[in-house]
Amino acid sequence: MKIFLHSFLILTLSFSLLGLFTGCGSKFHHQKFYVFGTLVEVSLWGVSEQKASEAINVITQDFQTMHRHWHAWQPSPLTELNQAIAAGEAHTIQEPSLLLLLKKAKRFYNQSDGLFNPTIGQLIGLWGFHNEDLTSHRSLPSSEKIAELVTLSPGMDDIEIEDNRISSRNPAVQFDFGAFAKGYAVDLAVKKLRELGIQNAIVNAGGNLKAMGKKGDKPWLIGIRHPSGKGVLAAVALNEEESVITSGNYERFFEYEGVRYSHIIDPRKGKPVRGLTSVTVINRSGALADAASTALTVAGLQDWHRIARQMNIKYVMLVDEKGTIYMNPTMEMRVQLPAHEKSKVVISEPL
Ligand code: ADP
Ligand code: MG
Repeated sequence: MKIFLHSFLILTLSFSLLGLFTGCGSKFHHQKFYVFGTLVEVSLWGVSEQKASEAINVITQDFQTMHRHWHAWQPSPLTELNQAIAAGEAHTIQEPSLLLLLKKAKRFYNQSDGLFNPTIGQLIGLWGFHNEDLTSHRSLPSSEKIAELVTLSPGMDDIEIEDNRISSRNPAVQFDFGAFAKGYAVDLAVKKLRELGIQNAIVNAGGNLKAMGKKGDKPWLIGIRHPSGKGVLAAVALNEEESVITSGNYERFFEYEGVRYSHIIDPRKGKPVRGLTSVTVINRSGALADAASTALTVAGLQDWHRIARQMNIKYVMLVDEKGTIYMNPTMEMRVQLPAHEKSKVVISEPL
């Protein structure tokens, strides 16, 4: 599925120590599964083998259910909603999680001045980013078609939510929650683990990671992948319950005539964004951090600071095409960078 397509951007450093922990018995459990078209990894600390395996089964099923409910292209409750909107009809949603996604989407859309815009499914389809395999991409959309969709200007402010009845003033609205569904999914997964009595865990869905508790007496330490696609750029120790989300243009993109087109689209231009190669946001809410990492990628170096403030984001790290690393001061206090990267850091005004 396009929503959850690429492999993970964030590697938990702890995983590299996996051999050590599995050797010491029941303290550390780690399991991977493939769902949403992406690798999901669950790491648990301090529970019995049996409890870990039960919990991981529950989480696996939950992810599969979310995948079925939120799929933007294959038949799902979401595509039914999209069809109704395209036909100019109101639609009653039966799936509660979809309603919650829509409400969050409205809030993040407003806070980001519409740079996070999950109604641009038609543009995403036009560019071919709903295809799992982007390597076979052979052409670009026509400028007329792009201009047409930009002029139709779908947005979350076209949407009316009355109880669970959804209507749109604009039939060009086509929902695609790919920019924040994985972040929301890790929120729900961590919530479920807590309900199951687990206190220390990391759930990582394709680079969208949420941690709770600790790994023994130490905080979870995670690595943020280098935008070159190779190795780790920075390490961060996480607080009690936090998400780390990275949007990057180096995993989901296609190349045409030597130019790279990334899967994040500037809704104002109808075209893939350029400039930033990676944007990392830390926040308690995975859904917000995910929406923000996409919105800040669109905002670019000019506007990220303003949009981050509007979205109430406190920790941001951005990397541009030249490899310059931008951070706000409180982010700088948290990230550990290798010496050769430190000279590339530019510190912004506080958020
Ligand atoms: P990643 O999957 O790398 O974490 P994002 O969270 O930024 O990336 O999500 C990118 C996906 O969001 C795209 O594949 C597309 O489905 C959708 N999308 C692209 N541009 C936007 C945008 N401006 N607003 C909302 N969704 C977008
Ligand atoms: Mg995102």
